[in-house]
Amino acid sequence: MDTELIKAQHRQIIRWDYKWTPLNKGYTDKILYVNVGPAVIKEKDVPLAMKEKFIGGKGYGLRLLWDATKPETKWNDPDNEIIISSGPIGGITQYSGTGKSLVVSISPQTNSVMDSNVGGFFGPFLKFSGFDALEIQGKSENDVIIFIDGVNHFVEIFEAPYEATDSHVLAEQLTEIFADSDNDKRNIGVVSSGSAAEHSLIGMLNFSFYDSKRKKVRMKQAGRGGIGTVFRNKKIKAIVCKIPGVKGNLNNVVDLEAITERGRRFNREIRELDDKQCQMRQVGTAHLMEVMNDHDLLPVHNYKFGSHPDAYKIDSSVWKRNFTQNIPDGCWIGCNMACSKAVDNFEILTGPYKGQKVLVDGPEYENAAGLGSNCGIFDPQYIIETNFYCDTYGICTITWSTLSAFVMECYENGILNKERTGGLELRFGNSKDALELLHLVSRGEGFGKTAGMGVRKMKELFISNGWGEASFLNDIGMENKGLEYSQYMSKESLAQQGGFALTNKGPQHDEAWLIFMDMVNNQIPTFENKAEALHYFPMFRTWFGLVGLCKLPWNDVEPENNAQTDAPAKVPEHVDNYVTIYKAVTGREFDKTRLIEDSERVYNFQRIFNLRRGYGTRIHDRQPYRAAGPVTIEEYESRAERYDKQLKEKAGIDPAGRSTLEKMNIMREYREDQYESLLDAVYKRRGWNNNGVPKIDFLRKIGMDLPEVIAVVEKYQ
Ligand code: SF4
Repeated sequence: MDTELIKAQHRQIIRWDYKWTPLNKGYTDKILYVNVGPAVIKEKDVPLAMKEKFIGGKGYGLRLLWDATKPETKWNDPDNEIIISSGPIGGITQYSGTGKSLVVSISPQTNSVMDSNVGGFFGPFLKFSGFDALEIQGKSENDVIIFIDGVNHFVEIFEAPYEATDSHVLAEQLTEIFADSDNDKRNIGVVSSGSAAEHSLIGMLNFSFYDSKRKKVRMKQAGRGGIGTVFRNKKIKAIVCKIPGVKGNLNNVVDLEAITERGRRFNREIRELDDKQCQMRQVGTAHLMEVMNDHDLLPVHNYKFGSHPDAYKIDSSVWKRNFTQNIPDGCWIGCNMACSKAVDNFEILTGPYKGQKVLVDGPEYENAAGLGSNCGIFDPQYIIETNFYCDTYGICTITWSTLSAFVMECYENGILNKERTGGLELRFGNSKDALELLHLVSRGEGFGKTAGMGVRKMKELFISNGWGEASFLNDIGMENKGLEYSQYMSKESLAQQGGFALTNKGPQHDEAWLIFMDMVNNQIPTFENKAEALHYFPMFRTWFGLVGLCKLPWNDVEPENNAQTDAPAKVPEHVDNYVTIYKAVTGREFDKTRLIEDSERVYNFQRIFNLRRGYGTRIHDRQPYRAAGPVTIEEYESRAERYDKQLKEKAGIDPAGRSTLEKMNIMREYREDQYESLLDAVYKRRGWNNNGVPKIDFLRKIGMDLPEVIAVVEKYQ
């Protein structure tokens, strides 16, 4: 439809004019509050205590969400909020990976606090418009769009009945509507979701960025935990932010030259080393496919196996051919890592956009491994098409992959059948029916409604229906805290088992990725070593989400001499870059110790937020056994030599003459015991009691002893 016709249907509900606050040392100290229920728009000041303790980004999101909700607030209550905030470094353009936004809400999947990080333009544009965070509350009756005009300094909510719902169309329409010219399209940032987010609990948010070379609107995803579902439940169709342009020193930093110098140094590393190391500029994170397959870490058939003879059909050479090369693919201005690869002119073969040629953002490693090998589908066409539909329908590809693999294993085991799936034969490898299931979710029909609930709720449903054994379903359903696992095999890495199941939001690799340190390089052999890593890395990585940074430039290219440093896994030179940049933006006294301390306060606050909502204790750190060891005879026998050796050398049991079942049971007891010992060690290192609850003395020591926080923790001491 013509954009003028669409625009003519907009009906303004409220307009609020504001006095613009320019950034000072990375902050405006203002929050934009929008309630789409009674239509309220106002500005709030950021209290100094909040700025000092919570820093920005995810920290601000958590603080605001805590204050806005009660322990019993549900995801679909009007009081639930969606908070978007970048952080003090967010929006600089002199160093790679500096445009992230963090989104926080109460999750429909976990019923607790969710955070998701995402690239694209919106977070920095919000800052340039005068706000460190956007806090959205309430529920509208009809579909609305929130428009933040950072050029003329007003915010409005209007009804928008004619725009598309699916993101790839909607983001184009809104960019067209709000840009004054083609050249102005680079000044528009759009947040949107899609039709499947309306009919499922696994909805995701797309954040647009304008690709000036291709002259196309592209998207990055805040995928995890169903925040897109909250967005559509509030009847928000999109949020649009418009700015006059990105130039100079908009963050008004203290020492621009110090940042520029580190940026130049990093850019040289990318230029000289990326082709020899990860090839992020050519294939993005998809370079991991063969690395994972070679190390038996690629999830295959719902995490049963770690490699597959057909993996070459979806390895990085395939993606390199499919991705358009020699185009700067940065999702934020100035990112020279430029890993946001895309497939251009891809012809869609199924669903509502059949026959159209589209741009597909990705696939990244998680999509290729999850949609591909984990579902037994080694077909690039399927992976690209499903990647496209997950994005435009507004659901998380990681979650979709893991729940599809679970459904397929249930089907293979007779827990599901054609009668129960409405005629779909959801076996491993059946790409046709797998795609049809995705289309059903977008229409809210048939078995799509069941699948869209996610693994935890499907398990509960199947068990209550008497479909399959509860113990088997709990073993193979790859979720913890209600969130689906991301796409790495943790069976052979005890530290990574903790890296997944000890997360605050649920198993996502953005907290800790320790498989190589632990399993491949054997650098953290003892429980204390693993606990130290499970303290340092989650805290270090949390900091990216406080300040608005992308994690990838930290260690997806490493300085040439990194291996010779005293802590190669930490990439000390890059840590020093970050310390320098943070000081140069904010002018704050800062070093690598304070970096961890800043994160530790927020990390513990999030753990206590979980406690406040009835979670956050040891029982919620349990993992499905599939994450720790072989659930089935088939799995054990596929690696019998390795497991037999481990029984002998680690568990002190001679496997000779024992049946596979017997050996599996001994192995299980051993591995479960190891995991419990790991929890003990990690809790101790993190300053928590044996139930995983932060100790009051420790909270005082780290400066997270706010009265409301202590009041929650006291109940668990
Ligand atoms: S490294 Fe990749 S994901 Fe990170 S900011 Fe750059 S282009 Fe975006």
